[in-house]
Amino acid sequence: MNGIVNYRFLKTLGSGSFGEVVLAEDMMTSNNVAIKIIDSQHNEIEINREIQIMKVLGMHPNIIRLEEEIHTKNHTYIVMEYAENGDLLSYLLKQKNGRCQLSEGKAQKIFQQIICGLNHCHGNMIVHRDLKLENVLLGSRCDVKIADFGLSKMLKYHRLRESVGSLPYAAPEVLSGKFYAFEADIWSCGVILYALLCGDFPFGQDIGPDELMKMEAGIYNLPEHLSFGAKDLIRKMLRFDQVDRITIPEILQHSWLQLQPQYLPPTLPTPISLAHRIQQSDQIATKMGFKVLHLGMEELWC
Ligand code: ATP
Ligand code: MG
Repeated sequence: MNGIVNYRFLKTLGSGSFGEVVLAEDMMTSNNVAIKIIDSQHNEIEINREIQIMKVLGMHPNIIRLEEEIHTKNHTYIVMEYAENGDLLSYLLKQKNGRCQLSEGKAQKIFQQIICGLNHCHGNMIVHRDLKLENVLLGSRCDVKIADFGLSKMLKYHRLRESVGSLPYAAPEVLSGKFYAFEADIWSCGVILYALLCGDFPFGQDIGPDELMKMEAGIYNLPEHLSFGAKDLIRKMLRFDQVDRITIPEILQHSWLQLQPQYLPPTLPTPISLAHRIQQSDQIATKMGFKVLHLGMEELWC
């Protein structure tokens, strides 16, 4: 019989809105695992959705792997692979230069892997919705593992409207209550890349109407020390209009990432055309004077 008694809790790794994440030893194998402990009082649909999404994503080198799910009367335990080098925020804060930023070479290696992981999510029609430094983990060789699918959703042909996620990383369409899809994750990755290279957020921590206006006008500081390629990629990821924002295949082909090709996938992924097609058809319909109706098909998980 397997169960939570087979794990020895060692220390707390982090805590968040969902509950606590602890480091534990699997006493059968002596392997370390990370266990997310969620109180059963928490919304059951949300807990199950997080687990189902991890199952859909399966084994990918840049996605944290689900090992086991354990349900007891009071808790759900999500047992996952342990990322030894913690999250990207702690990693940035530990940088020896004291400036909480990475060299472009280091950032390229990390960022390529984030995009490969994200491509796997989007290829499986999963939008993450909470990409931020704390949710990107580093394994034993500083290999990237995207984690925390607590806010993720699977999209088929609909778009979302709920304003969720973390303010400094949230795309303008999410902040302003518009319909959005996969492109919102690209914006958040743009903020992550900016943070990796500049040790700051492009629009600060507190986002209000003034910051939304700056997002629309593309007003933020791109430090002098950044190379042309890095600035260009950041600008293309932080495009206000979702339709104009760079796509994953374009990011992977961008000259700045091609400087360090070792982590790039051998074949380029196909673009996520579904969301674009929906947007394009909406635009055409609007141009022709039709009203676009959205059927709020929020829930695909039954
Ligand atoms: P929040 O709502 O604040 O985003 P959460 O409750 O959904 O958090 P997670 O983001 O999954 O929880 O985990 C919280 C923190 O625990 C992470 O930021 C990270 O520091 C640590 N952590 C989570 N999973 C792992 C793991 N598999 N290996 C190592 N550390 C982990
Ligand atoms: Mg988190």
